[in-house]
Amino acid sequence: MKNYDTILRSVEKPTRYIGQEINSVNKDLSQVAIRYLFAFPDLYEVGMSHLGLHILYGLLNQVEDVFCERIFAVADDMEQYIRQGETAFVSLESRSPLKAFDFIGFTLQYELSFTNVLHMLELGDIPIRSRDRTEEDPIIMGGGPVCFNPEPMADFFDLFVIGEAEESIVELMEIYRAAESKEDFLIRAMSVAGVYVPKFYRDIWQEDRLIGYEPLRPDAPYPIVKAFIKDLATAYYPDRMIIPYMDVVHDRGVIEIFRGCTKGCRFCQAGMIYRPVRERSKEQIQGLVEDMVSHGGYREFSLTS
Ligand code: SF4
Repeated sequence: MKNYDTILRSVEKPTRYIGQEINSVNKDLSQVAIRYLFAFPDLYEVGMSHLGLHILYGLLNQVEDVFCERIFAVADDMEQYIRQGETAFVSLESRSPLKAFDFIGFTLQYELSFTNVLHMLELGDIPIRSRDRTEEDPIIMGGGPVCFNPEPMADFFDLFVIGEAEESIVELMEIYRAAESKEDFLIRAMSVAGVYVPKFYRDIWQEDRLIGYEPLRPDAPYPIVKAFIKDLATAYYPDRMIIPYMDVVHDRGVIEIFRGCTKGCRFCQAGMIYRPVRERSKEQIQGLVEDMVSHGGYREFSLTS
């Protein structure tokens, strides 16, 4: 196996893989109880433009004994090195393989990324199907807007968080600390808002038509109610976003000025699944802009919802 830094000199865009950006986090692994890998199933420059990554990364790393790292899909040149055994598929922060983590949390932003999820699990030597994984494998979690229809990916995930994960994810870390096994964790996790554990449900078919689902345990909630942040003003928002070393798709500061949209166009996720709309105050938005200017040096901002 070649030295990772030697490989980086040979790939087209090494900045996709080096990490160590301003405002990225590193922790002493000997002081960490829970290792969480935030996985974005697309290239670095796409994933680093995603606000949810910055929110969950900052939020989880605020918890002293939790270390959240990042991993992205690799480009063809890096994949060849991994498949040839020249290097491994590793996290950006500590360059650890996927198997070293307690959780791998994929964000599902669009259905076209589904195959990349499977691809990343395979590159990381993790069994693709949930039923083939053991106690030793990480717990594979899914979140993001596409999880409002999780069934196409239900065989591959151990757990989904449906809805807005900021509060649920911290609760899940607390439950994991107290759990005696992976199975025990998955059972207890179902008490958290928005959590769907596919293995505890079965499909109901009428001839060749799927007509519903049935919980297999009395403690499996049905229907599952989405996780929802009532007040954006008190929800976590990162004031120190990671500053990439390369041009990313949205290369500017991002301020979420409200969540959801009052128009409710039927085809649109923002209008349909993030209801009701919640707004930030003008004062909070101004404060976030000032923080991001001083901690990130941004001169340009997107005001998003
Ligand atoms: S954000 Fe979505 S719901 Fe709102 S106006 Fe645009 S398309 Fe319609």
